[in-house]
Amino acid sequence: MSSRERVYRVEAIVLRRVDFGEADRLLTVFTPDRGKLRLIAKGARKPSSRKSGHVELFTHDQFLVAAGRELDIIVQAETVEAFLPLREDLLRTSHAYYLAELADAFTAERDENRPLFHLLKDALGWLCTADDLALLARYYELHLLGIVGFQPQLFLCGNCKKELSAGTNYLAPGEGSVLCQRCGADQTGTVRISANALKVLQFLQIHDWGTCRLLRLNTPMHAEMERAMQHYLLYHLERKLKSVDLIHRLRRQLEMNQR
Ligand SMILES: [Zn+2]
Repeated sequence: MSSRERVYRVEAIVLRRVDFGEADRLLTVFTPDRGKLRLIAKGARKPSSRKSGHVELFTHDQFLVAAGRELDIIVQAETVEAFLPLREDLLRTSHAYYLAELADAFTAERDENRPLFHLLKDALGWLCTADDLALLARYYELHLLGIVGFQPQLFLCGNCKKELSAGTNYLAPGEGSVLCQRCGADQTGTVRISANALKVLQFLQIHDWGTCRLLRLNTPMHAEMERAMQHYLLYHLERKLKSVDLIHRLRRQLEMNQR
């Protein structure tokens, strides 16, 4: 017998799901003890399959898994928390895609990260009832970056280390920080950030969601914060995030419907 367990139990959140072979699905899940895993859900696409109901996207589940030669296989599944509102409202769904996509993009397989599991689980729960989905997305980005080792320094200039002043500053992803007006003005690859937007990002970075959710921001402020954070994230990911376009398309559609 190999030292690897033949059957094991995991708690998991389903990040991604693709068809696999004739009737199976390949799930990308995030677990507290084993990080990101890829697991086969057997027969999950057959309407009669008992297991299929338990492998919905963005659910929190308990799996019994059998080690396979190449990929491990789910032999039993039970839902711990379904997060139903995330499947009933398109805008919430698109944000759930975004939270899952970021967790997937910033982690390697089998890299344990318990704080990230808890952040993801909490954020999916908050997303079910949050009023301001964009605010939650920014909160999640900042806390995820801290957990995966890319936390931006938002309080001191990354170059001269002086406290940032109330004027225009520059977010510099390459430095992993904000630069003051003097140090940042001639730097390439930076994005200007207003004093107010910076204040909100600082607030989000150091407070919990219970406090942050009370913030009320206008549309231009949201747009500026999103631009800044996307600039920072894309630099570190070196690829586009699919769900960002989805969110923008949906928002435009909703705005048109409201006219
Ligand atoms: Zn400086």
